[in-house]
Amino acid sequence: MSHNVSIIRNLFIALVPTFFLMMTGCSSGDSSDSGVAVDEGLRLDLPGLYSTVRYINVKVVYEPGAEPFIGSTSGGIEYWSMFEENIRALFQGRSIEPQVSVPKSLSEMNRIDSRNQPSWTAEEIVDLAGGIAGTVDDPSIAEMYVMFLGGYFNEDGGDNPKVVGVSVTGTPIIAIFKNVILTTSATFLVASYVEQATVVHEFGHLAGIVDSGVPMVSPHLDPEHLKHCTNDACVMYWQNEGAEDLSLFVQQMIDTGSLVMFCDQCLQDTRSYIP
Ligand SMILES: [Zn+2]
Ligand SMILES: [Zn+2]
Repeated sequence: MSHNVSIIRNLFIALVPTFFLMMTGCSSGDSSDSGVAVDEGLRLDLPGLYSTVRYINVKVVYEPGAEPFIGSTSGGIEYWSMFEENIRALFQGRSIEPQVSVPKSLSEMNRIDSRNQPSWTAEEIVDLAGGIAGTVDDPSIAEMYVMFLGGYFNEDGGDNPKVVGVSVTGTPIIAIFKNVILTTSATFLVASYVEQATVVHEFGHLAGIVDSGVPMVSPHLDPEHLKHCTNDACVMYWQNEGAEDLSLFVQQMIDTGSLVMFCDQCLQDTRSYIP
């Protein structure tokens, strides 16, 4: 059994002091085949996610030193509510709108022992998730695992210091490389948004967009970067290039209080999907 790994790379350089780079650059590695074997218990049933699941429970674990950003914007928006809102948005208007539960404080997340690994292969990420995952045998519950790790993603035998996050296709597993997140942004606020956007982007892949399990209602697949959206204002765009665009992307969210990072076409796909 083989699975693809979706990768976001941090490709940006700080250009302005306040708003700085944001990732959402996914690599061609998205379509690579990692060949990782996954236990049946760690499968994500995509049609089930859109037909039987009533509860989406996100578990966040972190290695010491790789803690997620916790807290709120000056407008009082808790950072982790961004991820929660974006999951909700995907299912809005469906006959089942699952209850989404995302931890928002470190006390609701789980600290794991440090692995002291300089890097992680896709297989090691899946193994780690296997040790964390509970045994949920209820088709109404989907557990998703977001793991904050020290070290880099190990791709094709080499460490890649530009990958900020990966998701393992066909599983509920997301890994975030905290050291890379920390190098991407000049300010705490922007880094917090970058972190949330990375998690949202990887969740989008697990949820079957773009055109990777959930069919498109209207064409918006980037033919050169499969599984990604042609809309450069969408979190599923393979790369949001340029500090101006990025600062707009972030600033728009801050100004409007709108936390939804997916474009309408991506949302239309998941909201209309009939498994
Ligand atoms: Zn991607
Ligand atoms: Zn989109």
